[in-house]
Amino acid sequence: MQTPLPRVLLGPGPSSISPKVQEALSRAPIGYLDPELFEITDRIRARLRTVFGTQNAFTIPLTGTGMAGMECCFANVIEPADKVLVGIHGFFGHRMAEITRRLGAEVITVEAEWGEVLEPAAIAKALDAAGKVKLVACVHAETSTGICQPLEEIAKLAREHGALFLVDTVTSLGGMPVEVDRLGIDISYSATQKCIGAPSGISPITVSERAWAVRQQRRAPVEWYFDWVLLKDYYDAPHTYHHTVPANLLYALDAALEEIEEEGLEDRWRRHVAVSTLLREQLKELGIKAFGRAEHRLPTLNAFYVPDAVDNEANVRARLLQDYGIEIGGGLGKLKGKIWRIGTMGSSATPRNVLLLSAALRTVLN
Ligand code: PLP
Repeated sequence: MQTPLPRVLLGPGPSSISPKVQEALSRAPIGYLDPELFEITDRIRARLRTVFGTQNAFTIPLTGTGMAGMECCFANVIEPADKVLVGIHGFFGHRMAEITRRLGAEVITVEAEWGEVLEPAAIAKALDAAGKVKLVACVHAETSTGICQPLEEIAKLAREHGALFLVDTVTSLGGMPVEVDRLGIDISYSATQKCIGAPSGISPITVSERAWAVRQQRRAPVEWYFDWVLLKDYYDAPHTYHHTVPANLLYALDAALEEIEEEGLEDRWRRHVAVSTLLREQLKELGIKAFGRAEHRLPTLNAFYVPDAVDNEANVRARLLQDYGIEIGGGLGKLKGKIWRIGTMGSSATPRNVLLLSAALRTVLN
């Protein structure tokens, strides 16, 4: 069998991992109650508080991918018949609404066109009409469109209406500011395989005291695996066995967070801005138009219209992968076949990768 080319991961995730993170992954595992493991998880939790911009005590590396984080965060605060407002401006907003419905909530949705952002006025109107809403939720960085949702106004509205505010930061955490405490976000989940620079399999989550109190007051039980109270008893004293945490993924996350600390969070955000700017400039030179309004584009993932001259966009992606080892993403849902999604996240966010991609695209498109 032919050895596949090493991959340059410029899709919507996962992103590439650094040699240091890869080395950490290959260390020998240790047990789930080993005191060294709790030294590692305590360090991870402290560093996650820094990237989330929070002092929240309950900030943990939940086992599972970003979807586990999504399920877990809704499941702890939502009980059947609760009213939940979900703002939808892309594919992942729809997933939030679906999960919330499955929990038996009464879901009110406010939608924006894919490629646009949610308007606070529309959310205010829906909140005024709905009566008591327990939770307002939306996606910060919509991976399906490359669009960043401003959060400040929505956070304020949620607070004014006595609702918790839950935000998906899967494609933003570690690559751009996520200011949980300053904005008043009560609950957030992310994933490690994007801007954090670790493999997939861990979902960092953070929970405010307000949200914790709502969890404590609920009557219906929470799905066992995701119950915050049981998870707290594992990560904090008395360290009661809950499940066998994946030590190697935690080593890798610890190493990735150390790299973030060494680079400096603000320098890292600036690198993501610089590399995504270079990407847009390079693709513009090839006549490839960026999707969405300039002021709303993410520094972590950008969407581009597939040029009219391309009959089969999947062939272009297949050739990039086969001939050059470069992965980019296609469109999701209603944007399938219409856009390409190019991530410049974590260790993948380098000028070298962008220049490789633009040179490869130039060849493939000719
Ligand atoms: N939310 C957003 C915004 C995402 O982009 C993704 C994955 O790309 C998820 C949730 C789900 O994460 P995972 O695929 O790690 O389960």
